[in-house]
Amino acid sequence: MVYKNYSLKNYNTFGFDVKTNYFATFENKNELITLLNDFENQPLLILGGGSNILFTKDFEGLVLQNNVKGFQIIEQSEEYAKIKVGAGENWHTFVLHCIENNWCGIENLSLIPGTVGAAPIQNIGAYGVEIKDFIESVIALDIESKEIHQIDVLDCEFGYRDSLFKNKKKGKYIIIEVVFLFSKIPNLKLEYGDIQNTLKNMKIEAPYTIKNISDTVCYIRQTKLPNPNEIGNAGSFFKNPEIDINLFKKLKEEYPEMPFYASTLPNKIKIPAGWLIEKTGWKGKKYENVGVHEKQALVLVNYGKGNGQEILNLSKQIQNTIKEIFGIDLDTEVNII
Ligand SMILES: Cc1cc2nc3c(=O)[nH]c(=O)nc-3n(C[C@H](O)[C@H](O)[C@H](O)COP(=O)(O)OP(=O)(O)OC[C@H]3O[C@@H](n4cnc5c(N)ncnc54)[C@H](O)[C@@H]3O)c2cc1C
Repeated sequence: MVYKNYSLKNYNTFGFDVKTNYFATFENKNELITLLNDFENQPLLILGGGSNILFTKDFEGLVLQNNVKGFQIIEQSEEYAKIKVGAGENWHTFVLHCIENNWCGIENLSLIPGTVGAAPIQNIGAYGVEIKDFIESVIALDIESKEIHQIDVLDCEFGYRDSLFKNKKKGKYIIIEVVFLFSKIPNLKLEYGDIQNTLKNMKIEAPYTIKNISDTVCYIRQTKLPNPNEIGNAGSFFKNPEIDINLFKKLKEEYPEMPFYASTLPNKIKIPAGWLIEKTGWKGKKYENVGVHEKQALVLVNYGKGNGQEILNLSKQIQNTIKEIFGIDLDTEVNII
């Protein structure tokens, strides 16, 4: 079924009431190819859960929501499991499924909104874990040739909140399935965020299980991050900038308290964007219908009656201030449409 002039209000976590000319869902490759052939000349947007998208206007084209479901064990032994998962599966449901089966590694990525198919797009990450370390390959439809490609993890060009699918091949592939490889031997990552303190406060005792870590991460996220069902948002709006080491040294003299992290890029240092935004006084600022969240400076929010253009204007003002004061370019993590 293809819907015309369809509202996307319930399909983006900002909750903006934009419309698309056409909207349809697909459950498998054949349905997808039929839709692509029927709407060949229309601009196309693939949607998962809409939790990493900012709509600034109506979409003049076809929006396709990925609804490819299914889990399949491809191989397993006592030590590992290789699993193929439909791109339209809910991410957190998948994490819980892994925990039930003792497939270890992605417990720190609990409660990230969205779908399995969107996870490789920006190489989702949280609490010291990135999904790239558990992906074996990505199975995707090449939109132009309509052929299925199985793209090996080494060819996905994963980086910090980045991949081939967000850069060189942006808009070229539709991810249908993802193949994951998990160890059955836990290798817990406890040293990030408040995990250890929260485990103590929750009176959970060592040796910890992957379920303990997932519960703890869920608790931290529920207390720290605004719930999109209550207040529209798309999580972190900006990426943490990775700045040149010379600029870092200069800034550190002026702001000795500035936090920083190692970067995987040569001669770069990662700075928490939240600190920069807070330091320049933006945290908690409200502009009519939108604003910067009062507890999380990285999260821009819709107070209910806002629109995407207001969020975009606010984000540009923040970027300008950070550039003026620190000489740092702040990139957006959210996909702007
Ligand atoms: C409260 C909150 C907290 C968040 N926390 C985190 C976090 O801790 N870490 C993190 O990394 N992210 C986080 N995010 C961002 C978001 O959850 C992730 O980026 C998630 O992977 C997006 O999934 P989605 O299905 O909603 O994608 P969508 O928003 O629907 O799409 C995102 C992009 O991927 C493309 N896309 C989606 N599916 C496909 C597909 N099958 N094939 C090709 N292209 C596709 C879309 O066209 C779009 O460009 C958070 C968001 C919110 C609202």
